[in-house]
Amino acid sequence: MTESAAPFDERAYDLRLPEGQEAPLLLDSPHSGRVYPADFRTRVSEPVLRGAEDWMVDDLVGEAPLEGATLLAARFPRAYIDPNRRLDDIDPALIDGTWHEPLNPGPKTALGIGLFRAKTNDGQPLLAGPLSVDGLRARIERCWRPYRQTLSETLDRLHARHGAVWHIDMHSMKSVGTAITPDGPGARRPDMVIGDLEGESCAPDFTALVVESLRAKGYSVAVNDPYKGAEIIRTCGRPAENRHSLQIEMSRALYMDEATIAAGPGYAKLKADLRQLVAEVAAWTRDVKAA
Ligand SMILES: [Zn+2]
Repeated sequence: MTESAAPFDERAYDLRLPEGQEAPLLLDSPHSGRVYPADFRTRVSEPVLRGAEDWMVDDLVGEAPLEGATLLAARFPRAYIDPNRRLDDIDPALIDGTWHEPLNPGPKTALGIGLFRAKTNDGQPLLAGPLSVDGLRARIERCWRPYRQTLSETLDRLHARHGAVWHIDMHSMKSVGTAITPDGPGARRPDMVIGDLEGESCAPDFTALVVESLRAKGYSVAVNDPYKGAEIIRTCGRPAENRHSLQIEMSRALYMDEATIAAGPGYAKLKADLRQLVAEVAAWTRDVKAA
């Protein structure tokens, strides 16, 4: 594959509307995209590359629309461009040429996981070389912008119809920390980590509801440790406006073999539990609205 190969040219996301009665609830999966475009050049093997995906999270929550929730899932890979990052969170060393706007690389870029991913989970170089300005701009226009715009517009529409909206940003995490995660290599994780930016992205009753629902299903749950949430919930969560966003990170050990990128024995149970979670949250949002 060469730098001149075509950038991503398919639809950037799948948006699934609720079947039956709509709840003011949206789930999104920004990191489960697996359509690798021709201009994505990597120096690592496929299992290592795909270790960057929140593997199959879109499918794990695929029954959410049956419970009245709206579901948005990215189709482009997060290693190609990450919709959960700021547009200026870029390492200038990745760019072959002059960027068109000021850059503001943050802690994620320092870890190699900024807007354009530079490192594998083990902290090794991911990319085959610097990336052209035109190619990177195409990634923004064809992937990042349509995804984020659809997310905002869909939340706006639900908020306009219901007067409030609740949003769960769905992810999966390696079962132990690595060189590029905030808790460092070898750190054991709980089954689930709920992030609400230390209470800034939603009202506390929403966090409490999700934590209690997951604990009742037998999962160990931590809050804001080691993941507090990132740009998506920072942008969408405005509790003073009745817009409530939180993030769920699910341990990949619950549902997959992390080395071979294959479904594990827990896959079906997790999927069923997530459908139940969505059913409970959807019912709660209808009750909160009615109160
Ligand atoms: Zn993720």
